[in-house]
Amino acid sequence: MILIKGNEVAEKVLAECKRDIAELSTLGKKPGLAVVLIGDDPASRAYVRSKDKKCHDLGLHSVKLELPADTTQADLLAVIAKLNADSTIHGILVQSPPPKHIDEAAIVLAIDPRKDVDGFHPVNVAKLALEDRSGFVPCTPAGCQRLLMDAGVETSGANVVVLGRSMIVGKPMALLLMAKGQGGDATVTVAHSRTKNLAEVTRHADIIIAAIGRPHFLKADMVREGAVVIDVGINRVDDPTTEKGYKIVGDVAFDEVAPKCKAITPVPGGVGPMTIAMLMANTIKACKQL
Ligand code: NDP
Repeated sequence: MILIKGNEVAEKVLAECKRDIAELSTLGKKPGLAVVLIGDDPASRAYVRSKDKKCHDLGLHSVKLELPADTTQADLLAVIAKLNADSTIHGILVQSPPPKHIDEAAIVLAIDPRKDVDGFHPVNVAKLALEDRSGFVPCTPAGCQRLLMDAGVETSGANVVVLGRSMIVGKPMALLLMAKGQGGDATVTVAHSRTKNLAEVTRHADIIIAAIGRPHFLKADMVREGAVVIDVGINRVDDPTTEKGYKIVGDVAFDEVAPKCKAITPVPGGVGPMTIAMLMANTIKACKQL
């Protein structure tokens, strides 16, 4: 069994980013990322902090905007408009989820698609479906595809089951894997909460991407011998033995599934570090294209 180490692959992606940044600097360009946080949700705050830190580590221009929880939709739209017009900013990200009074879809629509490094704007969703490589692919599925490619997992002709159909992970993941070319050409099945006989469906998969947000959901009897499993899940479960009182686990029952697998990602240290690395890569791509 091969343990696919996301930390190591993320380091490779970041090394590529460093090379690109050095090249861009010879042209007098410096990629810039703006991350907007509304409110003080601790998990969102931690994500924003780590994105900002990663930018600083790489030498990217980073702007962290922390807005109060009662920021109005109009004020937020004004902030986005300013960032759209700012030539030092190439990527804009509004940390999800915003407070309830904010219409998230309208915010995504307001971001210039050329700066939409999350890949959530309808223009970028369409580009992904159209296989137009100038678009931005959401960071987590892009990271999963890179993990598969880096581990030498053949996707061409493979039966892939994507567990989950969200716009952030499942749907773009399916589009990436069914696209023509390297890292694609797979036969993709997308499963969700209405799927019948789920275990029967997943047992036919050569590759399973688990992105449903249920701790330890994918059990050994749902996986065939020799499958490749990518675990996207980040679930907080109580654990009184730890200092924080909780631990992070994936959507896969790792201990029982891993022995059956040809390759598998751990949680933590699998998909997680890839997401932030792909965000950096998308910001550099935006800088090159603007
Ligand atoms: P969502 O809640 O948006 O989507 C979950 C999907 O799983 C839905 O399509 C849902 O089906 C499906 N689902 C839920 N329960 C079941 C079930 N019992 N059987 C079959 N399908 C089910 O989650 P996200 O896509 O945003 O995230 C998924 C997981 O990935 C979460 O743990 C999240 O924390 C993690 N994540 C990790 C990231 C990383 O960087 N590693 C980044 C983003 C997410 P239906 O549509 O029918 O409701």
